[in-house]
Amino acid sequence: MIGQSLIGEVVSKQRQFFHTGATRDVSFRIEQLQNLKQAIIKYDLEITQALKADLNKPEFEVYGAELSLIFTEITDTIKHLNNWVKPQRKRLEFTFLPGSAYLYPEPLGVALIIGPWNYPFQLSLLPLVGAIAAGNCAIIKPSEIAANTSHVINKVISNIFPSEYITVVEGGVETTQELLQEKFDHIFFTGGTAVGKIIMKEAAKHLTPVTLELGGKSPCIVDTDINLEVSARRITWGKFLNAGQTCIAPDYLLVHKSIKQDLLTAIADSLKEFYGQNPINSVDYARIISQKHYTRLVNYLKGDIYLGGECDSEQLFIAPTIINNVLWQDSIMEEEIFGPILPVIEYEDINEVITAINYRPKPLALYLFTNNQDLQARILRETSSGGVCINDTIKHCGVASLPFGGVGDSGIGKYHGKASFDVFSHYKSVLKRNFVFDLKVLYPPYEGKLPMLKRLFGKK
Ligand code: NAD
Repeated sequence: MIGQSLIGEVVSKQRQFFHTGATRDVSFRIEQLQNLKQAIIKYDLEITQALKADLNKPEFEVYGAELSLIFTEITDTIKHLNNWVKPQRKRLEFTFLPGSAYLYPEPLGVALIIGPWNYPFQLSLLPLVGAIAAGNCAIIKPSEIAANTSHVINKVISNIFPSEYITVVEGGVETTQELLQEKFDHIFFTGGTAVGKIIMKEAAKHLTPVTLELGGKSPCIVDTDINLEVSARRITWGKFLNAGQTCIAPDYLLVHKSIKQDLLTAIADSLKEFYGQNPINSVDYARIISQKHYTRLVNYLKGDIYLGGECDSEQLFIAPTIINNVLWQDSIMEEEIFGPILPVIEYEDINEVITAINYRPKPLALYLFTNNQDLQARILRETSSGGVCINDTIKHCGVASLPFGGVGDSGIGKYHGKASFDVFSHYKSVLKRNFVFDLKVLYPPYEGKLPMLKRLFGKK
């Protein structure tokens, strides 16, 4: 672990290393990505244990929702990197001929990656894949709230990378604030909207560009033309995965009145199937990350509790809970819930749903369950969100060809796959000319030349 007073020194050593040019070599980058994958495989057991200790994360979810995403990203990146790094030839207007135009991707320099605690391994290392691929040095600051995972990230990284290339700085808010005093070439932050604003303000002091992967209240609209059983299963899975502590979890349900009761019954059936009669005994159900978040969530356990509501502070357990007959003005509709509590609002008129969504901060995800093609088209056209998943939840974020990120309050910038490479690259615009032909008419003195210029550019 690096002491706080050494932060400035680490950044400056990384900058020196960057200027050696070592990271510009594409085969070097590919080798580091392979090393990263091998190190994760080597520490697989410790990673699983850390995530179990922090969140009681089931091993299946450690692999399915953390490690597999990194492995896929590494494989995909290695496969395409030689193409991504190539200069892209661009169209050139005849007035610049003879010549050629290009976009040259180049690394930014030293990046800072700040991670959250909910998928603490994946969300710290997935951006790193992009940073390495694009040829940067990087400092990772994992979340101190998922302390065990933070330690194991440090172990994995320090095992394979010299600190002047990639390193981990562990610590809490003060450590992040100290890091933010340094000048970075990019800051990639995943966390809440409130902290995102702090990060952007600090980054502005150095004019450092930021990617902000934030949160928000992602609505889940369930209209009438659906397969009830499949919809219920997919909503239940997306909401209660990691005990609801997923940035793109359906935050609340908007259900058409005519099917509400059937849907709630089907969700109750899915919950029983997933976690049994007593979810506290299920090995597949996660725990709340901390006492602070547990206390925050317990405050929501009121109103018309349709299902669940049980909790245990010693185990940081909150049962999958459904709160029925919620109104837009209820306190549970103010902030992102980020826990296993699902408020249900019923509707009859989809116009009201669209208006209500549009008057709220733009969400990270929006879910719509319906086979009605017209309604699908209308929701896509008339609402704005980071991403949309129709007739399923969460899975859109696993599609490598779909950049992932928010809009408005839910974030700035997108990553995953090629988009990650782009985040950590500067696309340098390059015009190449030769000495074959030089249009002297462009140079002073200009007398008598303006009509010709106007004719050339279509202005009489
Ligand atoms: P957070 O914003 O509290 O913390 C994230 C990071 O910021 C941590 O490393 C923390 O140390 C640091 N931090 C906290 N307070 C700070 C401060 N005052 N100054 C400087 N740094 C500070 O977020 P969290 O609680 O770890 O995660 C939950 C939030 O993250 C939710 O809102 C969730 O939706 C969002 N999230 C978004 C994504 C995404 O991909 N868009 C993914 C996961 C989580």
